[in-house]
Order: sequence, then structure tokens, then C-alpha cells
Amino acid sequence: MFRISQYMRELVDPKPLGPQRTPPGPVVIWNLLRRCNLTCKHCYSISADKDFPGELTTDQIFTVMDDLKGFRVPVLILSGGEPLLHPDIFEISRRAREQGFFTALSTNGTLIGDDNIGAISETGYDYVGISIDGIKETHDEFRRMPGGFDAAMRGLRLCRDHGLKVGLRFTMTQDNAQELPRLLQLMEDEGIDKFYFSHLNYAGRGNKNRETDVFLRTTRWAMELLFERALADVRAGRQTEFVTGNNDADGVYLLHWVQKHHPEQAAHLEAKLNQWGGNSSGVNVANIDNLGNVHPDTMWWNHNLGNVKERPFSEIWMDCSDPIMAGLKRRPRKIGGRCGRCRYFGICGGNTRVRALQLTGDPWAEDPACYLTDAEIGIAEEDERDMTRNPMGLAG
Ligand code: SF4
Repeated sequence: MFRISQYMRELVDPKPLGPQRTPPGPVVIWNLLRRCNLTCKHCYSISADKDFPGELTTDQIFTVMDDLKGFRVPVLILSGGEPLLHPDIFEISRRAREQGFFTALSTNGTLIGDDNIGAISETGYDYVGISIDGIKETHDEFRRMPGGFDAAMRGLRLCRDHGLKVGLRFTMTQDNAQELPRLLQLMEDEGIDKFYFSHLNYAGRGNKNRETDVFLRTTRWAMELLFERALADVRAGRQTEFVTGNNDADGVYLLHWVQKHHPEQAAHLEAKLNQWGGNSSGVNVANIDNLGNVHPDTMWWNHNLGNVKERPFSEIWMDCSDPIMAGLKRRPRKIGGRCGRCRYFGICGGNTRVRALQLTGDPWAEDPACYLTDAEIGIAEEDERDMTRNPMGLAG
């Protein structure tokens, strides 16, 4: 996850570079069940509204939680499927809070209503993230649920009005990119705390079309909107948070944006971004799926590291006999192509390995979804192309 607002605060109120902080354990995104009341177009867990065999019992979940606590995991993000369909979701969540985990609920929001908002509120989630793919019809079309947008917004408002920290989670695709400005406006109008912008797990078409690829150009446009909005909020004293996921080149793109608009802060920001270090799949981010299989993150469902029913997570996570896990834990990672030559590898860390694997069969090839030009990553002469121009005639 890339925390845009944190770096915008550094622009406005720079803090000295302290020692690099290493998280005590990985953030665990836990798909407690696969069952879901929706069948969204872009769902990575391919869920359905039925029970799936082989899922962990609540007692097994508790055993895993004890192990995670002992392993000093700081954050549990309870997800699905739709986690509110788990019959023991509140018992699991309360236990997580009592054990001291930062406990987040990642939900489609449509099942939050007057009947359960009391329980949700009493559970005291540290954060509730609700997926929104666009305004009204766009969202309903993505979620394949007429009325889905209104239901999700009702859930979000109920959480907000009960004092919970809430956020919108938006996965941008070519079909909903044009909705981003309206969603940012919605966030402001509704007093929503956080905006999570998720890049689509886009495999692209390799290196050739990077500078003309409409989607990569749209990504740059979207990032600039987020940068501008995050900085405006920091300057206005608003406590909002803008974060992104699934494309660690965002850190490098932010540095270029700062070099252009706030050059006096660029060196400071570059040092801070290098401390962040980019992609941390398999190191500081982990995923447990509904069957108990452990993955380096939520995008690696085709690669199992082990199962928590058979071995504790703490053992699985430290076992580097798996070559993918060994390669992810290696510092610096050994990655080829553009990433290997990139001047900003220390900021980005070579981005998302599963995309390289999907496109080339080699998990250590360059990330095909890097949206920076060769000039911007320091492997070609600067050119005059203006890649920040609005590529789709989108409202800004
Ligand atoms: S070339 Fe690779 S390491 Fe450099 S910014 Fe792009 S994805 Fe990151």
C-alpha cells in the first residue's frame, strides 16, 4: 500500500529522516469465506452465494489468530467473499480487537443495515472499507446488483454516523475511470475519511506501447488527481487519507510530480520514499484464503505457500524453501528488464511480481504495468512528451 497523504504531509511539514522502521509482522488480509451476496465482474476470489467446502471452522480461525498474535502480526483485514455473511463474524472480530490487532472490515457494504449496525459499531472496527466502483449505474453494473450503490452508501453512512472510520475502495478499470472525479467529490460531500485507489491487476502488452497505451496514460491522470486532492486536503487541515494499492511505481511517479511542482522538497521526499522501499508482498503483506492457504498477497491465489490447518502461519511465513518466497524476501530483489535497470528501483522494489509471472512466465521479469516512461526511470534520454495530459478527455 502506498500512502499518498503521508508524503503530502512531508511536503507541507517535513520531518527529519528517522531510522527505518520494520513492521513487527506482516499485515494479514484474511478471506474468511468465499461466500458473497454479489458476483462482481472483477472479483479475484470468484465468489458466489453458497457455502464452499473446506473452509476453516471458527475454532480453527481462533487457533490461527493466536499464532498470528504470537507472530506479532499488527493488522488483520477481514475480507471475503462478504465477511458479514460469516455466521461468527462479530465473535471473530471482537476477539481480534481484544487481542490487540488493528481490525479492519473489508465489505461490499450492502448488508449493513439497521439490524446489524449496532453489532458492527460495538465491535469497534478500527476501519471499515467499502467497495465502490462508480456512481449509481456504473457501480450497479460492476456489482451486477440493481440498487447496489444505494445499499452500499446506506451501509457506509450508517458506519460513519456511528463513529467508525470509513473508506471508499475503488478499483479503476477502463470502464469506470471517468467516475473518479465524481467519487472524490462524493468522498468530500459525505465526509468520508479514506480513499483507497486500487490499480487493476493489469498485465498490459509489454514494453512497446507504454507511451501510447490509453490505460497507462489514464493511470497517470488518475494519480495526478489523487496527488492534487491529497495535498489540498493536507493544506486545508483535513484528516483524510489517500492510499493506493497494486502498483508500487506510484511512489516513483509521485517523486516526478514533486520534482515538477515542488522541486525544493524533492530530495527530502526521495529519501523518505527510499525508506518505504516499495513492494512488500511476501514480506510485510500476507494473505490467508478461505481454505487456509497462505499466499504472498491477495493476487497470488495460484501460488500456495502452505495451509494453516496443517502448519502454523508463523512457520509457513518464515519458510524460504519455496523459491517464490525466497525471491520475495531477498533484499534487494533480483529482477530483470526495465526494473533491473531502473534508477528508482529502491523506491518501487520492482513492483508486482505476479503480473510479471502472468505475462512472461517469469516472476522475476519486469512488471508490465509500470506506467513510467524509459526517460522517467532513467534508462533513456528525457523527451518532451507530455504524458500527464488528460488522455481520454476526462473531466478533471
Ligand atoms: S521500472 Fe520497475 S522498478 Fe522502476 S518504477 Fe517501473 S515498475 Fe518500478
